[in-house]
Amino acid sequence: MLKNDLLEQWDRENFFHPSTHLAEFARGNAPQRVITGGQGCHIEDRDGTRLLDAFAGLYCVNVGYGRQEIAEAIAEQARELAYYHAYVGHGTEASITLAKMILDRAPDHMSKVYFGLSGSDANETNVKLIWYYNNILGRPEKKKIISRWRGYHGSGLVTGSLTGLDLFHKKFDLPLAQVIHTEAPYYFRRTDVSQSEEAFVAHCVQELEAMIEREGADTIAAFIGEPVLGTGGIVPPPEGYWAAIQNVLTKHDILLVADEVVTGFGRLGTMFGSEHYGLKPDLITIAKGLTSAYAPLSGSIVSDKMWKVLEQGTDENGPIGHGWTYSAHPIGAAAGVANLELIDKLDLVTAAGKTGAYFNNAMAEAVGGHAHVGEVRGEGMLCAVEFVKERESRTFFDASEKVGPQIANALLAEGVIARAMPQGDILGFAPPFCLSQEEADEIAGKTARAVKAVL
Ligand code: PLP
Repeated sequence: MLKNDLLEQWDRENFFHPSTHLAEFARGNAPQRVITGGQGCHIEDRDGTRLLDAFAGLYCVNVGYGRQEIAEAIAEQARELAYYHAYVGHGTEASITLAKMILDRAPDHMSKVYFGLSGSDANETNVKLIWYYNNILGRPEKKKIISRWRGYHGSGLVTGSLTGLDLFHKKFDLPLAQVIHTEAPYYFRRTDVSQSEEAFVAHCVQELEAMIEREGADTIAAFIGEPVLGTGGIVPPPEGYWAAIQNVLTKHDILLVADEVVTGFGRLGTMFGSEHYGLKPDLITIAKGLTSAYAPLSGSIVSDKMWKVLEQGTDENGPIGHGWTYSAHPIGAAAGVANLELIDKLDLVTAAGKTGAYFNNAMAEAVGGHAHVGEVRGEGMLCAVEFVKERESRTFFDASEKVGPQIANALLAEGVIARAMPQGDILGFAPPFCLSQEEADEIAGKTARAVKAVL
C-alpha cells in the first residue's frame, strides 16, 4: 500500500475533484480523505477512522454499505457478460428484468423506462423527449421548461440550467434561455413572515400562473420538480402545494417531470415521492436509489401518454436518435435487480418511513430548542437543520460566516458525516435506510454537541 503522503501528493497533482475549491485543494488547505471501506451506515478511511455516514454518500447508498448480495450479482454479471449495448432492440436478462421491476413499482400510468448512467443524463434525456414529443405533435414553439429556484437537477448544460442554484450557474453562462425559474416552495424562507402556509402556497401558484401568462402557455413544454427539494435545502413542500401546482399544469397542457433521483425507491417511506404527494407525472427521473450506487445507473420512466407519441414519432421519422453507449449497462442493471430485491426482502421502504420519523423527532428534540436553530424539517429519511442568526426576527447569517460548513466540520470531528447544503446555513441528513434507532440517537446527540461548539 502506498504511504498516505504519496497518495495525497498524487491526488493533489492529478485528480480534478468535482465541487471542490481547486486552488485551496492544490495548496493542501482543503480536506483530503481516502475512503477504503464501508459496512452498514459506516465508512472507513485509510487512517482507520470510522465515520457514521448520515448522508449515505450523496444520498444514494440507500441499502447501506457492504451488501454482499449486490456485490455478488455484479461479479456474476461481469464474469458472464460484462457488456453488451441496448441499441436496436438488444437487451440482457438483467436490463429487461430491471425494467419490469421498475414499472411494477412505478405509478400505474407509467409505461417504459429509458436507461442512462446518472441523474444528469436522465434529465437531459427527459428534456430531449419533451422537445421531440412537442415536435411530433406539431407544436414546435412549446419548448420552455419551468424549474424552481433551489431545485437541483444535475450539472450538465441543460440540467445545470434546470438547477436553480447560483453556484451551478455563475461563470458557466447558465441558465440556457429555454429554462425559466419560478418560486421555490420554501415556506421558512418566505419574504412575508406573517404569511400563512396556505397563503404562501397561493402565492407560489400565482407566481407560476403569472409566468405562464407572461411567456404564453403555447411556449411552455414542461415543469420539473423534486417532490421534496433536495440539494437546495431539503425542504418538504407546504401542504397542498403539489395538488395546486398540478392543477395549473393540467390547465395549460404543460408536462410534469418528477425528479425522483433522491426520493425514488423509498427515501420518503413510499416507493416514489409521486405516490407520497399524489403526483401524476409524465416523466419520472430515477438514479441514486435504483442501484443504491453500487454501480452507476439512471432512468427516465415515460408515461403512457408520452409513449404513444414517441412511437408515432418513430413511425414518421425512423429510429429515435438518442442513445448512450452505456444505456442499460448489464453491470448496473444487475446491481439494480439485486438492490430492489434486497429492498423488498428487508422491507427497507417501510424502515425508511419508520426510522426516518424517529430520526426527525430525535433531531428536533436534540437541537430544536437551540437559539440559533430556525427550523428542523424533514420527511422520511431526509432531515435538515437550518440555522439563523436571530430566531425571532428570522435573520440569516451572512454566507461569509460559513456557519453551515463549520457545524458540519464540528460534527465530522465527532465521527458523523452530514452535508452542509450549498446555499444557506443548512445541515442536511439523508442516512441509509438500515439506520438503527441507536444510530439515529447518536447522530442527533452529536449534532447537538457540534451546534453548541460552534454557536
Ligand atoms: N436530480 C436530483 C434531484 C439530484 O439530487 C441529483 C444529484 O444529486 C441529480 C438529479 C443529478 O444526478 P447525478 O449527480 O447522478 O448526475
